[in-house]
Amino acid sequence: MALANNITAVRAKINEALAIAGRHPEELTLVAVTKYVDAPAVKALIAHGVGHIGESRLQEAARKQAVLGDLKNSFKWHFIGSLQTNKARQVAAGFDLIHSLDRMSLAEALHKAGRNLNKEIPVLIQVNVSGERTKHGIAPGEVGAFYAEVRKLAGLRPVGLMTMAPYSEDPETSRPVFRELRLLFEQIKQEYNPGPQWRELSMGMSNDYGVAIEEGATIVRIGSAIFGAGTEG
Ligand SMILES: *Cc1c(COP(=O)(O)O)cnc(C)c1O
Repeated sequence: MALANNITAVRAKINEALAIAGRHPEELTLVAVTKYVDAPAVKALIAHGVGHIGESRLQEAARKQAVLGDLKNSFKWHFIGSLQTNKARQVAAGFDLIHSLDRMSLAEALHKAGRNLNKEIPVLIQVNVSGERTKHGIAPGEVGAFYAEVRKLAGLRPVGLMTMAPYSEDPETSRPVFRELRLLFEQIKQEYNPGPQWRELSMGMSNDYGVAIEEGATIVRIGSAIFGAGTEG
């Protein structure tokens, strides 16, 4: 019951933020971050119409996918954690969107994996907007140059940007971070003309997804607001 109530509350808040911003519900993807929970809780999401899963560790995700069997195909799988280069191949094969491209060596490894799989691996460039030393991501001033290199790699399809705001009780603290990510996204669009495939802004977590949607998020990544407070990553 808690799960149903939480999802209903999250959807209500998402719709409220979309309405404030004058945006359509189709412009927003809810990714349920399942790193706190096991396969049965993932499975329970199907009944609630949640079709996107976010996981931050390859091994745990692979274990849950194995338990789910064919039911894993009920979901699109998002890789949201920091990614070791030697795991690029597995993540490229097992996930639908990688949110955490943060360095050239990883871009090259994913490109190679894409060539081997005969597909373009969809990726988001992770940006460290806030400059926190504990956070991964490309510095805002270097994102354009990084994108220019990544777009040359035929095994990759860069579709947008991702960021994490510093944790705060007050979601307004995140607003300038999200606004800057949106600006960087628009700058790349103008400078490189990437076409319609350049369309995703992954920003907003349990504490700040309302603000993120107001600032233009197309993907929100929500864990504890769905699976209960007190869950630890
Ligand atoms: C854990 C995690 C989330 C979800 O965090 P909540 O605060 O539980 O919603 C979102 N994005 C990333 C990258 C995460 O690691």
